[in-house]
Amino acid sequence: MNVLFVVCDGMADRPVRELGRKTPLQVAKTPNMDRLAEIGITGIVDPVAPGVPPGSDVANMALLGYDPYEHYTGRGAFEALGTGIDLRPGDIGFRCNFATVDASGVVVDRRAGRISTEHASRLVEALSEAAAELGSELGVEAIFTNTVQHRGVLVLRGEGLSRAISDTDPGENGKPMLKCVPLDDTPEARKTAEIVNALSERFRAVLSRHPLNKELPVPANAVLFRGAGTLPEIEPLSELYGIKGACVSAVALVKGVCRAAGLEVLEVPGATGSYDTDLGAKFSYAIRALEREADFVFLHIKATDVASHDHAAGKKVTFIERVDKALGEALDRLDLEQETYVLITADHTTSTRTGKHEGDPVPVALAGPEVRPDDVSRFDEVSCARGGLCRLRGMDLMPILMNLLGKVKRFGF
Ligand code: ZN
Ligand code: ZN
Repeated sequence: MNVLFVVCDGMADRPVRELGRKTPLQVAKTPNMDRLAEIGITGIVDPVAPGVPPGSDVANMALLGYDPYEHYTGRGAFEALGTGIDLRPGDIGFRCNFATVDASGVVVDRRAGRISTEHASRLVEALSEAAAELGSELGVEAIFTNTVQHRGVLVLRGEGLSRAISDTDPGENGKPMLKCVPLDDTPEARKTAEIVNALSERFRAVLSRHPLNKELPVPANAVLFRGAGTLPEIEPLSELYGIKGACVSAVALVKGVCRAAGLEVLEVPGATGSYDTDLGAKFSYAIRALEREADFVFLHIKATDVASHDHAAGKKVTFIERVDKALGEALDRLDLEQETYVLITADHTTSTRTGKHEGDPVPVALAGPEVRPDDVSRFDEVSCARGGLCRLRGMDLMPILMNLLGKVKRFGF
């Protein structure tokens, strides 16, 4: 038996005025999600804790069964892992942005006019060389690479580094680029902050001379660093439960969380993390992995969250309906009576009104061979609150699933 764990990022919502005070999930036509609710068991889940708005890294960590209060070690490491860098214990990972900074050091565009991936790659050639050079001057290894558009990652590797340092990214346009400062009184934090500041200056010097920046309408003349993090010390799911697992996601951060949990990241052509993503391909890859040898596939879909951040209630409803259709085609290929458990949930609530992650619980439905069904037959935030799973924490879902697979050891004699 195996598990397909479907997470729609930020799918849960609050009642939305333009939807007649209903949530997008309540308004969307979702016969397949509803079918899971009908034949399965439902409930609501506080991804981390009641009332706590989680970041996607923390939330997905919890959904994979790890207590983020115990294990969370910063976003940057997940971002680096998710881009395929083999992070080692002690390495410090950062998320980076190409940005445009004026002569007085004020950030005028945190995304450097959303520079194209191709242009960013050309700048990275010069920067990764500069990073390696400065690193060897300072006695560390500095690895810098770009991912998509203005985004990139930096990894510092060496003795005596710390993630207890601040960001150089002011977080919004119109504010000055910040100096990185140590957040505790250790020589490690001081040393790491000095390295980051030196890199930041070296990058600005290299970028100001770069010929490409003379052509770009909005020059990418600085790199901002944030979210310093280290690898979390967590036992992989393979060891915790003796399962083989895989994940499908287009988002580096989520891929990184999954890699940290020991899941194999499947690269799916056409998975974009946006509205245009190929949902059929994502489900197909997940099903193929289950057919081959995976006991567990974590399938993450991003654009539900994007719609909320964009305050686009209608788009959210439409996209949920597309997810439902793709889910329906997947359910036709799975044997829920004898072989596969399917769970669907969200990693957190993202409010279409506020455009932010919120601390409200999310609905969950779980169907499969030996699930005890409840009376709920609709999949949404309100209906599932009456379900048989009642109210759980995000980290409770994995043990429940693994128990159904017979993978949880008995506690006591
Ligand atoms: Zn999320
Ligand atoms: Zn979000």
